[in-house]
Amino acid sequence: MKWQQYSCHGCGVCCRDFTVQLREEDLLKLEEQSWDRILGESPIVHFRGSPYLKRNDDGSCVFLKEDGLCRIHADHGFAAKPIACQVFPFNLAPGESKLRVGVNYLCRSVQENKGAELETHLPDLRRFAEELPELAAPAPEARLARGLEPASRRERQALLSVLDGWLLSDDIAFSVRLDGVAWIAQSLGNARLDDVREDRFTDLVRLLGEALPGELELLPIEPPTGRQSALLRQASFARTEDPRINDGNRHRGRLMTTLSQLRRNRSMRRGRGLTPKLSVVLPEGVDFRAIEGVGPFVESPDSSEIDELCLRWIRSSLHGSRLWGSAHYGWSIVDGLQSMVLNIACAGWIARLCSAADSRPMVRLEDVRTGIGRVDRHAGRAPWLGSPIELVRLRYLRLDDGLRRILRANWSS
Ligand code: SF4
Repeated sequence: MKWQQYSCHGCGVCCRDFTVQLREEDLLKLEEQSWDRILGESPIVHFRGSPYLKRNDDGSCVFLKEDGLCRIHADHGFAAKPIACQVFPFNLAPGESKLRVGVNYLCRSVQENKGAELETHLPDLRRFAEELPELAAPAPEARLARGLEPASRRERQALLSVLDGWLLSDDIAFSVRLDGVAWIAQSLGNARLDDVREDRFTDLVRLLGEALPGELELLPIEPPTGRQSALLRQASFARTEDPRINDGNRHRGRLMTTLSQLRRNRSMRRGRGLTPKLSVVLPEGVDFRAIEGVGPFVESPDSSEIDELCLRWIRSSLHGSRLWGSAHYGWSIVDGLQSMVLNIACAGWIARLCSAADSRPMVRLEDVRTGIGRVDRHAGRAPWLGSPIELVRLRYLRLDDGLRRILRANWSS
């Protein structure tokens, strides 16, 4: 991925956002560093039986300094930090023969494409691979679709090449390119692929690619139905849900947390009145009608930067194999592609939420960064996004052009 750069610029966004679960080796390192004595209290908190780094009341890591840098890093160096902090923003997952490496778009440097080429991080990535036992055992390649055999290298490359070629067709409006990706994801989901393997599959995806953009003009779509819009809002809720261990420990029990989630989820499904609390970093109490009224992304003064960011995010997810297999709940390639389309639509909805909260008629680049960051933060990590409920949601949205409709309504129109 020569078009994706990253070096940490110490913005502290991840230190304010992530809850860091600690491993045995992390606990030993922290003990050797004598933080209990230096801080006057333990930097570790236990939540549901597991140790985590303690967070301040504002949600930031207890080691985050005022200058935005990490105190462990400053005093003891990069390798002295808990392994999860060292690995971010890389997403590592085992493959059949080599490691799968993607990057997380919550990171500001990744979003802004700032820093060194990803290859320069290879020494650290190799060290992580040795230190993380879950990466040691090879993982099978992702299935092409649920119930089928794993996709061969040729099948994966054929699909990637068609999607990449289409996404890079810069003579075609970006919103149309997004629509085309949704159409391919939907078409593959609706096809019976058990007899369409190897040469026949590569022919099929090539034909799908060649049918664009003409097929989209022949198949115009209506706005999403009420049910499809409700599912999109619920999917956005699932992608922004943000259980904070300090909240859970200090203020509420598991039952209260569950009841609050159910109440807020119901409010998102209805989509009437004001939005519920979604995450500490997102606005609350925004009129749902104002969100729907935010103008098309193409009319944003930042539209070319927004397109560049979204294009890089999608290609990075595809090339980093973050959407399927061991990096994504063991899902098939077809399910993973559809999940990506849903993620883009959710990022668009969150961007609109931010815009409406500031009474701006158009989204700005910063809104889209927030939307993409929120969605990618959880992708492939949050257990509830790999649940059967999520697959049922995708199955429903695949019908009746649901994926295309919600993507267009939240990103393009
Ligand atoms: S979000 Fe990225 S750039 Fe900012 S501190 Fe974390 S790793 Fe560094």
